[in-house]
Amino acid sequence: MNERLDHFMARANAAYYATHDPFADFTTAPEISQVFGELLGLWAAVTWRSLGAPSPVLLVETGPGRGTLMADALRAIGRAAPEFHAAASIHLIETSDRLRDVQRERIPEAVWHDAIDTVPDGPMILVGNEFLDALPIRQFVRRGAGWTERFVGPAGFLETATDHDPAVGATDGDIVERRETAEAIAVTLAERFVRHKGAALFLDYGPEASAPGDSLQAIAQGQPVDPLAPAGTADLSSHVDFERFGAAAKAAGARVHGPIPQGLFLARLGLFQRTNQLARHLRPRAAAAMTEGARRLAEPDRMGRLFKAIALLSPGAETPPGFE
Ligand code: SAH
Repeated sequence: MNERLDHFMARANAAYYATHDPFADFTTAPEISQVFGELLGLWAAVTWRSLGAPSPVLLVETGPGRGTLMADALRAIGRAAPEFHAAASIHLIETSDRLRDVQRERIPEAVWHDAIDTVPDGPMILVGNEFLDALPIRQFVRRGAGWTERFVGPAGFLETATDHDPAVGATDGDIVERRETAEAIAVTLAERFVRHKGAALFLDYGPEASAPGDSLQAIAQGQPVDPLAPAGTADLSSHVDFERFGAAAKAAGARVHGPIPQGLFLARLGLFQRTNQLARHLRPRAAAAMTEGARRLAEPDRMGRLFKAIALLSPGAETPPGFE
């Protein structure tokens, strides 16, 4: 049976996250430095205040992995913004039972959801790191004057003629990717932020502007592999299309800031000041590791430029920290 690429990707990732410890295959910003989660927690607190400090408020994370980001964020919030901590209920959107078990150890007070739809309505601050890149994509190929869509068959990719027109300039053979799940999340959040005060911050990798190209990638045992490797054996991801993601949120009524490079965003939030402050209390080796972690997140030739930050907010909300 031939399977549309987005259906294959959804199935493959569900199987992968259900059966693997993804962090054996790749690492992520919250696992690199505790300062990442702390700064995002402080971002959430300051943004909450600028929205008028609504109470109660939902503090939500999409795709929390090991729960490290939220645990670091809550520690920083507890110290710096106890009134936000007291007003917040924690909601985690996670499809993998295996990762939910890991998250429950770190954040026992959380409530879990399979998708945003079941998170209660109300004022909300949401964060998501390396979540959007895991969502399924469709791929269209320009062939002559028309388009085909990529399916996965027993022997690899197949192309099927389609009337679906991604409506972009492309030359023969160009691949154009579409992210319907990610865009639907942008619209859902925007609609919520129109009804109630809210803000969402996503950090992920991808270009600033939409462009044709195949960005599907797969990682297994820490190495790049064929994306069509048997479903569940590799982590599949693609570049986030921030331009279309932001445009979808804007069209649904949200204010959008960014995308801006992660390095710039974290530096503005005080990445290096906080890292130095922590490093002063460590032995030289641990201090060097702490500093190295911060550099890895921020340096342009490492994670600082390919990774971007984008924020969606209620209409009329002030510019959030880091996006000034
Ligand atoms: N944010 C974490 C983990 C990133 S890995 C970090 O930065 O370390 C991607 C996470 O998203 C995993 O927790 C995975 O199980 C989850 N995930 C992937 N697809 C999902 C989906 N469709 N719905 C909810 N969670 C999903």
